[in-house]
Amino acid sequence: MSDCIFCKIVDGSIPSYKILENENCYAFLDIFPANRGHTLVIPKKHVKDVHEADAATYAHVASTAKEVADLLAAKLGSDGTTIFQMSREAGWQTVFHLHMHVIPRWDNDGLHKPWDIAPASEESLIDVAQQITK
Ligand code: 5GP
Ligand code: ZN
Repeated sequence: MSDCIFCKIVDGSIPSYKILENENCYAFLDIFPANRGHTLVIPKKHVKDVHEADAATYAHVASTAKEVADLLAAKLGSDGTTIFQMSREAGWQTVFHLHMHVIPRWDNDGLHKPWDIAPASEESLIDVAQQITK
């Protein structure tokens, strides 16, 4: 897609710090990192988000994210990993080319969960489970 910054990163017209590449995916450093080594994994073909991706493309991104997570843990000696995938504006996506954030984590690194933890009522769990169970 001609006006997509991540497509331009794949074709090399915008520079990036490549971490690894395979047939279907490209992984590179996020230039506004949450932590040292924060890496983005994208499909080489333009797909907007989880809902528009075919299952195979999403699987390629997920398996490459796992490879990157293991690589970062091995090379950086991190204590854990957080993987995020935002889809659409309501899901906090800001660049509309599918990507997974792979964020190395250290004990007490100061990052916060983006939601408050509070228990749901039994009634609300039953209600939503009835609505979404296949
Ligand atoms: P989103 O908010 O859509 O989940 O994530 C987009 C990510 O892309 C952000 O974390 C942002 O820092 C990163 N980003 C935006 N523009 C560029 C860029 O030009 N190069 C790189 N490497 N990362 C970018
Ligand atoms: Zn794109």
